[in-house]
Amino acid sequence: MKIEDIIKEIESCEECKKIFPQKFRKRGYTFYADHVANYEFMMVLQNPLFNNKRHAAEKSEADRASSLRDRIKVHQSFFSRWFLSGPNKSFVKRFLELFKEKGLIAFDNLKDYVNGQFFSDFYVTDLIKYWCYTKEIKDNHRKHAIKHLRKEIEAVKPRLMLVFSTRVWDVFLKEFESEYNLQPIKGWKTIKKQGDPERSEKKLANAHGFLFQGRYDKNRKFFVLPLFHLSVNARYMLLRDSYFQYMKEGLEDYLKIVVKR
Ligand SMILES: [Zn+2]
Repeated sequence: MKIEDIIKEIESCEECKKIFPQKFRKRGYTFYADHVANYEFMMVLQNPLFNNKRHAAEKSEADRASSLRDRIKVHQSFFSRWFLSGPNKSFVKRFLELFKEKGLIAFDNLKDYVNGQFFSDFYVTDLIKYWCYTKEIKDNHRKHAIKHLRKEIEAVKPRLMLVFSTRVWDVFLKEFESEYNLQPIKGWKTIKKQGDPERSEKKLANAHGFLFQGRYDKNRKFFVLPLFHLSVNARYMLLRDSYFQYMKEGLEDYLKIVVKR
């Protein structure tokens, strides 16, 4: 399946037409990758950051694009600007520098990288393709959007998926845990509440930065690193910098298992 086919399928999806109000669909949707082959990393976010100003500018530029490839370039450039703007910038810097430090990616200039090679190293995708405010997204939207994400995953077959935010993680785990036999390589953190038998809490707070292993088929493993949403990272950074400490340990586990570079 090519990227064109994935996009076409979303555009003509009857179920999307049913569940997404017309106003969502009028706003259009975003795509950041112009191909599916040869990606080691996939980054799954929830929805394009929606604000009226950005949307108007991005949509009108995207609508004027003469080819799909050009249109995707428009979305990439808006994404890069957002990625490096305001408080995101310090997050992105540390996030990508950690990948660089571990030898997973290479760059000299962060801005140049995020505006170019980044999109060849990371297949970036939103769970919800349509522009929308987070509060407009209902559970059935996410549940359905997983079907489109599954197509992307099957086409790209990334080695490592970075799954951002609580909402995405919840639906990701629910839909894919048994299908791909997803398991934390170090086991679930278990908690014991008074009067309850010991049980694991499969929420993101117990999964952030912990490496999960899954299988596309019996010969092919892949990995998932769940992470909190980048926009709330500040508060976790205050907790002894734990966002990046956990993430670093997750990447180290990935390197130990996967790579003999
Ligand atoms: Zn659909």
